[in-house]
Amino acid sequence: MFFNIVSPAKVANELYDLVIIGSGFGSSFFLSEALKHEPGRVLVLEWGQYNPWTWQIENRTNSPVSWGSTFVNTTPEKPWNTTIGFGGGTNCWFGQTPRFHPNDFKLKSLYGVGKDWPISYADLEPYYCEAEEIMQVAGDSAMGAVLPRSKPFPLPAHKGSTPDRIMMQATPDTHFIMPTARASRQTDTRTKCCANLTCNLCPVQAKFSAINGFKREYADGQVDICFNAEVVRLNSDSNHVSSLIFSSEGQEHQVKAESFVLGANGIQSPAILLRSGMDYAETGKRLHEQYSISVEAYLDGVGNFDGSTITTGLNYSLADGEFRKRHSSVLVAFENRWTRGFRPDVKRLTETLPMIIVADNIPSTDNFVGIDANSGKAVVTHLHESKYAKDGIKNALDKLPSLLSPLPVEKIFAGRLRGSESHVQGTLRMGLEGDGSIVDRNQIHHKYRNLIIVGSSVFATCSPANPSLTISALSIRAARNYYRSSREGEET
Ligand SMILES: Cc1cc2nc3c(=O)[nH]c(=O)nc-3n(C[C@H](O)[C@H](O)[C@H](O)COP(=O)(O)OP(=O)(O)OC[C@H]3O[C@@H](n4cnc5c(N)ncnc54)[C@H](O)[C@@H]3O)c2cc1C
Ligand code: SF4
Repeated sequence: MFFNIVSPAKVANELYDLVIIGSGFGSSFFLSEALKHEPGRVLVLEWGQYNPWTWQIENRTNSPVSWGSTFVNTTPEKPWNTTIGFGGGTNCWFGQTPRFHPNDFKLKSLYGVGKDWPISYADLEPYYCEAEEIMQVAGDSAMGAVLPRSKPFPLPAHKGSTPDRIMMQATPDTHFIMPTARASRQTDTRTKCCANLTCNLCPVQAKFSAINGFKREYADGQVDICFNAEVVRLNSDSNHVSSLIFSSEGQEHQVKAESFVLGANGIQSPAILLRSGMDYAETGKRLHEQYSISVEAYLDGVGNFDGSTITTGLNYSLADGEFRKRHSSVLVAFENRWTRGFRPDVKRLTETLPMIIVADNIPSTDNFVGIDANSGKAVVTHLHESKYAKDGIKNALDKLPSLLSPLPVEKIFAGRLRGSESHVQGTLRMGLEGDGSIVDRNQIHHKYRNLIIVGSSVFATCSPANPSLTISALSIRAARNYYRSSREGEET
C-alpha cells in the first residue's frame, strides 16, 4: 500500500490547504501538478476504496460499488458508466487518447453550432504534451498534420493492422495509428500491450492507471487520503467555500480548507453542488456524450487482426469541414478485435474489418443531472440525442464506401447503435460569466473563487474524440494557473 491513509475521525474539523474530491483523471492530474506548487497539506477524499489491480483481475470488476447504485437513472435505456474507487475511470478506461481537433474548441464561431470553449487548442497544446508524457502515450507522428504537436509522442506507435497499413498508404493525411496509453513497449511502470483485448481489466498492466502511474504522488508525505468518504455537500458564503461535509459509514464529518478541487464524476460533481444549494447558472445541465454506431466490412483477400493492440486505426476523413454547420463530425476507429462474430467461412475468418463510428453531439438542457428532493441522491434524465449527431452518423454511413475505397470491401453490414461511449460530460461547463457556464477558463467557479472544478463535467461541447487525455491536460493547466494567480499573483 502506497498511501498515507487517514481515518474520517482524524481529519474531522482539520484545516487543510487543499482538499481534492475524488481520485480519477481530473483529480489525480490536478494533484500531480499541485504538488509542484503547494507547500501545505493536501487531503484527498475518495468515495470508494482502494481496489488493487490483483483484486480487480481476480474479481473481474473495477470496483465493488456498481455505478448504477450511485444515482437514479430516469431514462435507463441510456447508461452512464463510471468507476467509484481509487483512480476512478483510470481503472475501467481502455486507454484511447486522441487529442481534440483544434476546431472542436470553436464550433460556434466557425460553424454556428454549440459553444466556443474559452480556451483554444493552442492554449492546451503544451499541456497535452505533458499529459501524454505522464501517461506514456504511444502514437503516430504523422498525426501532427491534423492535430499539431510541439513534442513527439513519448512511445512509438503501435503496429497497425493490414487494413490500417493499406489505408495509411493510400490516404496518409487522414488515416493514422490510434494514439493510446497502452504501452507499445515496456516502460518503468508498465509492460508492453499484448493485445489481450480486455482493457477495462488489463491483465498485464499495459494500460496507464492511477495505480501504476501516480504511486509517487499519492505516497507523498504532504498528501493524506481518506477512503470510503462520500462528499455530500460544500458549505459556502457569498463567494467562498469554507468547508465540506462527507459521509463515512453512516456518520457525517466536516473538513475545512483554503482551496477545494471538485473532481467527482460528471454526475456526482453537479449533484454535490446542487445538494449544497450552489445552483449557479446551468449547474447540472447539458449532460452529453458522443453518439456512435458499430459497423463491419467484409474484405476480399485482406486479413485483419494483426495489429499490436485492441484498436489500431483512427480515420479523420470526416473529422472537420464546412459540413459541421449542418451535421456532426465523426471519427472512424478500426478495431483489432471481433465485435460482431466470426465470418461463417473459417478459411476467411480474418477477412473482416469491425469499425466504430463516433459522432460529436450538441449538448441540450433537456439532458441533465438533478437531485432527489428527499434523499439528495443524484438523478439523471437524458431525453434525447441531437439531430445534429444522428445526421452526422447518417452522413458517415453514406460516405463509408468511399472512405474505405482503398480496401477490397465485399460488403458493409448495417450498423448497430452503441448505447454509450461511457463518457459523462458537460454538466458544469467552462465559459464566460453570464453565458450559463459554471467555471471560467481556468476552471475556477465563477462565483466561489476558491473552488476549482476538474474532470469531464467542465467540457463546453463534445468532440468525437475520447475525453480523458483532454481532462488530464486541462487539470494540469488548471493547477498551474491556480497557483500562479493565487500564490504568485500572476495573471493567467
Ligand atoms: C469502460 C470504460 C472505458 C473507457 N475508455 C476510455 C478511453 O479509452 N479513453 C477515454 O478517454 N476515456 C475512456 N473512458 C471514460 C473515462 O473513464 C472518463 O472520461 C474519465 O474517467 C472521467 O474523468 P473524471 O475525472 O471526470 O471522473 P472519474 O475518473 O470518474 O473520477 C471521479 C472520482 O470521484 C470519485 N467520487 C465520485 N463521487 C464522489 C463523492 N461524492 N465523494 C468523493 N469521491 C467521489 C470517484 O470514486 C472517482 O474516483 C472510459 C470509461 C469507461 C467506463
Ligand atoms: S489490449 Fe490487452 S494488453 Fe493491451 S491494454 Fe488492453 S488488455 Fe492490456
